[in-house]
Amino acid sequence: MFAEVVFDLAIETRFTYSIPDAWESVIVPGSRVLAPFGRKKITGYVVALSRHSERDQIFPIHEALDPLPAFSEDLLKLAEWIAEYYMAPLGQVLGAMLPPGMERHGEKLYVLKAAITDFEIKSLNKSKPVQSKILKALYVYKKLTLRQLVKKVGARNLIKNLDELLRSAVVEERDVISDQLANIRTDTWVRLSPLLLGDEERFVWATDELKKRAPKQADILFYLDEATRQSEDEEPFALRQAELLKITEAPYSALIALEKKNWIERIEREVIRDPYQRDYPRPNDVTLNDHQAQAVTAIAGTLRENNYYTWLLYGVTGSGKTQVYIESIRHTLALGKNAIVLVPEIALTPQAVERFKAHFGDQVAVLHSRMTMGERFDSWRKLQSGHFRIAIGARSAVFAPVQNLGLIVVDEEHEHTYKQQDNIPPYHARDAAIMRASFCKATVILGSATPSIESYYNATTQKYGLLKLPIRINDVPMPEVEVVNMREEYEKHTSEWQPILSRALRQRMKEELQHRRQAILFQNRRGYSSSVECFDCGHVAECPRCSIALTYHITGHRLRCHYCGFHQPMYSVCPQCDSLNILQQGIGTQKVEEQLRTSFPNAGVLRMDVDSTSAKGAHHRILEEFKNKNALILLGTQMVTKGLDFENVTVVGVISADTSLLLPDFRAGERTFQLLTQVAGRAGRKDKIGYVIIQTMHPDRAAIRHARQHDFISFFNEEISIRHDLLYPPFGRLVLIQIRSEDEQKAVELSGVFSDILAGEIKRYPDLASGVAQLGPTPAPIVKIRNYFRYHILLKVDKEADRSGSRIRSILRHTRKQVISRIPSGAEIRIDADPLSLL
Ligand SMILES: [Zn+2]
Ligand SMILES: [Zn+2]
Repeated sequence: MFAEVVFDLAIETRFTYSIPDAWESVIVPGSRVLAPFGRKKITGYVVALSRHSERDQIFPIHEALDPLPAFSEDLLKLAEWIAEYYMAPLGQVLGAMLPPGMERHGEKLYVLKAAITDFEIKSLNKSKPVQSKILKALYVYKKLTLRQLVKKVGARNLIKNLDELLRSAVVEERDVISDQLANIRTDTWVRLSPLLLGDEERFVWATDELKKRAPKQADILFYLDEATRQSEDEEPFALRQAELLKITEAPYSALIALEKKNWIERIEREVIRDPYQRDYPRPNDVTLNDHQAQAVTAIAGTLRENNYYTWLLYGVTGSGKTQVYIESIRHTLALGKNAIVLVPEIALTPQAVERFKAHFGDQVAVLHSRMTMGERFDSWRKLQSGHFRIAIGARSAVFAPVQNLGLIVVDEEHEHTYKQQDNIPPYHARDAAIMRASFCKATVILGSATPSIESYYNATTQKYGLLKLPIRINDVPMPEVEVVNMREEYEKHTSEWQPILSRALRQRMKEELQHRRQAILFQNRRGYSSSVECFDCGHVAECPRCSIALTYHITGHRLRCHYCGFHQPMYSVCPQCDSLNILQQGIGTQKVEEQLRTSFPNAGVLRMDVDSTSAKGAHHRILEEFKNKNALILLGTQMVTKGLDFENVTVVGVISADTSLLLPDFRAGERTFQLLTQVAGRAGRKDKIGYVIIQTMHPDRAAIRHARQHDFISFFNEEISIRHDLLYPPFGRLVLIQIRSEDEQKAVELSGVFSDILAGEIKRYPDLASGVAQLGPTPAPIVKIRNYFRYHILLKVDKEADRSGSRIRSILRHTRKQVISRIPSGAEIRIDADPLSLL
């Protein structure tokens, strides 16, 4: 048999290997194998098997790495879809699906075979200088890998000379294979040996002996005996070694002595590392309201039908979507199937994990990137083995090896974090979830209070089923929203004007805080001021690595770049003209904090942004303090818009809605509407209406007009007609081609070459060409990030002309193939299908 293998490398090629007889029954599509690649052995993934191969020289697979294939059939299909749709190498897609630390590789190690003297090495010096160098290096270092040899000897003529030495048997080649970094961890447990279990007489005899000479050993036996009697388990009682030593205060040597005498047994048991393992309070019984109950009934119906189906669960903020997820999972488990729950940012939503753990306990595995390698590995393999039945995690949890998948929940489906932006493959987890569900005949729930325009459109065209939760649970009323036009406020009330807090917001906060009710303030910009400018010459402090203004941070008195982390001290003298008139423009959270402390000195202010939450546990601490009313004001960036439920919050203030509204991106309006609606949803409680105050210079924009009325449908209707007219998604398909290089000239030239070839290719298909708009190349809106210049070509493809997008993708692949040999060193081309950010 032969196997087609791909590797986690930037190449599209599939390699053929023969399968040794010993591995024949183990290696199937989806298996991980160690296979020779050049002079090394590296981890590869088997994607297909065949009986015949045309090739002459075929190497055998070295080893199969797992007893069970790492990728189930549906995951392999999903990987193939992602590779095709996002134009990424299949091997890299498969590599990205696994938790880190699972790769293994083999290298050749070179050692001296025969004893060789210093003299002999020296005598080679003249005739074979490279061989002499190799031998000298091996003589000194005993063993070296090829990479190390290159470092010591240089690459020139190395292979040729090394081969000669191997042939003359002076040097020997050995295979070494690295261990997997992520490993199974075990703990040592101790129990009474079968010799003593149930043999009272022998137990007394043994302990009598020990009491005199080794009392600590006797203590251990007495403790184990007592605990064994108390235990109701069928298995003989066992205790963790560390715990036993602590309780009995016995030394380790006592255990070893007892083991030698065969009075105890020490056994290794597997540990599952789970950072979320603790007791969760049992959840209260919840009665679903009519809307929730209808939604659950509908979802249970498609679960039972055993066919793929997607539901869009559109529920206003506070309408109890999570309870619908929980009940739907209960139905899934009852059918003997398993579930995946995706949340946008799990590290920021500990409450979500808590709720699922409280309901489903030890059946829940958590997966996210802030867990340790061992923790992720354990979650992964225990999902694969069926020990865990529910996976909850951020984006990459869509690849969780859940068997017999019945349900995938995508919570806050509109969130941008579901799209992988900077790494390969640039997939969207929501779309991947839908594809995976279609392979598994599973049900998908997309939940949101502000569905993406694309998803809601799919619901209106019956591609998805629509379920609505139009009212908040517990009869909490929707908050009252007031929009303050800051320009008008300045003109009409100049004497009272203040750039951060409008009169209305000040007044409302004063009233509510007086009664010890709380406020959440939202400003989507961190730092103190967003730019620093010289009044006299106009010089703006910019990052030397990015074409972005530096932000002034009051802590440490520094200027910082929010894209690359560059920072430098703040200056008081203009570096260009020596002027002292330095202006700070724009309002960051630190400046808002300062103003709040001045305006409300007794309320207490908590600030939550990337800067204040970088320390471990800081995020949780801030939320606890707010919950305990140690402070009445919580101020923050978009972190405060997500899933926070505090009963006592009656005011929400948006300092400036314009930060996101004015971005040069066609989704700016949608994004603003989502942020405003999400943050407004934090206000209000059962007995008290909430107030939301939105400050803006552009009160007439659709996002603001409709957010004010909580009117998603009207916003959607207005937005969808713009999308239709301009051929933006969902009517047009976007593909962004980004060309980058540290050398701007290279980026410009390469984008010209790509653009010309692409245009030529498209022209060959006149019926398609009429539906394709090719924009650019142009410098990206942020032309330089981390020293890389970025140029963009944007394709807008009418779906009428290319329904599935397969034609344009095949053209792009063809173009890339032609350009590949012309990519200068230090430049690269990235193709992003359905990009979410055009910056
Ligand atoms: Zn100046
Ligand atoms: Zn920078």
